[in-house]
Amino acid sequence: MSSEEAEPVKTICPYCGVGCGIQVKPGDENPGDMRFMPWGDAPVNEGRVCIKGGAATQVVDHEDRLTDPLIKEDGEFREATWEEAYDRIVSEMERIREEHGPDGMGFFGSSKTFNEENYLLQKIARRFGTNQVDNCTRMCHASTVWALRTSLGQGAMTNSMADLEEAADVLWIQGANPGEQHPIANSQYFRQAVLEGATVIQVDPHKNKTTRSFKIDETERHQHLQLNPGTDIPLLNIVIKTILERHEEEPDAGWIDEAFIEERTEGFDHLKETLADFDKEAAAEECGVPLEEIELAAEKYAMANNAAIFTGMGMSQHTCGVDNVQNEINLALITGNLGRPGTGVNPLRGQNNVQGTCDVGAMPNVLPGYQLVDDDEARKSVEEVWGFEVPDEPGLTNVEISHAIGDTVHGLYVMGENPLMSEPDGHAAERRFREDLDFLCVQDIFMTETAKFADVVLPATTWAERGGTVTNTDRRVQRMRGVEKVHENTKHDLEILMEVGSRLFGEDGFRFEDEEAVFEELRQVCPSYYGMTYDALGEEGIQWPCYEPGDEGDQYLYADSFDTENGLGKIEGVRHQPPAEVPDEDYPLILTTARLEEHYNTGTMSRRSPTLNRQHPENFVDVHPNDAADYGIEDGDMVTLKSRRGEIEVVANVTEDTKEGVVWTTPHFAAASANRLTNDVLDERAKIPEYKAAAAEIAVNVDA
Ligand code: SF4
Repeated sequence: MSSEEAEPVKTICPYCGVGCGIQVKPGDENPGDMRFMPWGDAPVNEGRVCIKGGAATQVVDHEDRLTDPLIKEDGEFREATWEEAYDRIVSEMERIREEHGPDGMGFFGSSKTFNEENYLLQKIARRFGTNQVDNCTRMCHASTVWALRTSLGQGAMTNSMADLEEAADVLWIQGANPGEQHPIANSQYFRQAVLEGATVIQVDPHKNKTTRSFKIDETERHQHLQLNPGTDIPLLNIVIKTILERHEEEPDAGWIDEAFIEERTEGFDHLKETLADFDKEAAAEECGVPLEEIELAAEKYAMANNAAIFTGMGMSQHTCGVDNVQNEINLALITGNLGRPGTGVNPLRGQNNVQGTCDVGAMPNVLPGYQLVDDDEARKSVEEVWGFEVPDEPGLTNVEISHAIGDTVHGLYVMGENPLMSEPDGHAAERRFREDLDFLCVQDIFMTETAKFADVVLPATTWAERGGTVTNTDRRVQRMRGVEKVHENTKHDLEILMEVGSRLFGEDGFRFEDEEAVFEELRQVCPSYYGMTYDALGEEGIQWPCYEPGDEGDQYLYADSFDTENGLGKIEGVRHQPPAEVPDEDYPLILTTARLEEHYNTGTMSRRSPTLNRQHPENFVDVHPNDAADYGIEDGDMVTLKSRRGEIEVVANVTEDTKEGVVWTTPHFAAASANRLTNDVLDERAKIPEYKAAAAEIAVNVDA
């Protein structure tokens, strides 16, 4: 095909959850020569992209691409035919089911793969007889989804990026760093809101690109509450108690929204009781933030006409992650900041399909549309479409599946995930995968750190080479369109799953004409997607819920009532719970972790992108100057960062961005990933690991 004939296709950036539209121009003679092009009137970003979006095509024809199936024999991989690979997968899965029952297998979907693919993977798991299917949202926003679903009704952003810029007077950004993680949300929507007068309250242990992008530390208008890691509950309790106290003093000043509390919520008394003996001064000391600064922020939030909360992994990745988010919900509910444009509690989702992967049921406790597996009526409605019975007990989550390897779990099917870098306590996870797992199948585009331990590796096509849908952070379902594939012997994830499913269970229900046919079946079992079709999605996409054909979707939720059983929003007071591991004599520092703009999670793609990797080719640790002086660390020194679970060697970046006593590093780099150090303790309900706080020690490398 000549370049004149090759039309660009409109698709979605494969990186973060903002869901920017981009175009991919197919190669001229060689399909691998594809190029990025802007999509000027893309619905979310109107042509703008960040450094990741602009570099996204760089990895498609990377020399490391997997191009043929691989089977491990005597500890070494050899090239295999697809037939051999499928035979091995099917016989191993059947053997495991026979020897250990269906819960002997675990299935990992991926927030980087499409709705149709995750839908089919979870259907395979359930037909196999297990609910042990999960995805990496467990690691980022499982607690947020839990709190939002339980207290408001839907496990998703209540509002939209677009209604911010029109309406929000205060942006309360807690544990999120859109300047780094969601650059287009920050530079387009947040910036516009600020230009129109909105105030930013940032709550984060670290100064970052968000702080700098709005000059937060340089103005009276904005505030940065630089709290100690793991003290979000006491900080929000100070905010809430301040609002309640001021309301007592000035009942007509609008500190709380009494009518909203009365008509639309339950549990207000519980919140008041919880805070009755709460000591604000002691709590402020615990947070490491002056009390009057927190009180001032409380006033700004409460007095805003519309205030929107944005929440990120600084809130969710704690053993108290659900309670952290519940306290944000409490704040929004008592001030009536829900159900209108420019308000709400809004998780900024990390990956381009993290919302959709959960929507389509790739989770152990819910079927498509968040219908609980232990709800008989919901389960039966799905079973009627599928034609087989679904187990009625929730399965293990992904970290629990990993912990159960060698005990109850003996085989794993991993699609597009890299758990050996994304799981906390990486050394222990690697030991389990290496020593205790009978069978591992990995379906991916590169030989990931996890794939190295696989028995079968299946070469998949990239995001740019296939079609389907993804759902962004504000619930917009958008179509992705592919260009010609680069390597002939690779296959689309959906093709692979159809083949595996058909060989295990027969063609009926597992063989589809194309991705659109899968979406058509998904609609039948996912009420909030029922009104959508590929045609209706068009180029604009639709924000769920979209219950009937013709519905235009909702920019914001809960205008009239919440989607809870009784229609009320649930307020519930919560108390401070320190991190599971706090500093002590041996490990006197607090380790916290976060991501960089130029990299993406386990770095499988971003480390292979020349543009992105050039910005940050290796890991580093931020150390406060006072700590650096105590330890004799100079900026640029190689240091060893240690926790009870391991150590990594990284470059020291001496900076006041981090608080004294807090060291800050990233999970992106295989040779020195933060997850060699993080603690694999979980939030009791949502089972999300505590990535954001662990005890650590640091030392200069003597021979560096
Ligand atoms: Fe891609 Fe997110 Fe950047 Fe948009 S903001 S271009 S979706 S990484």
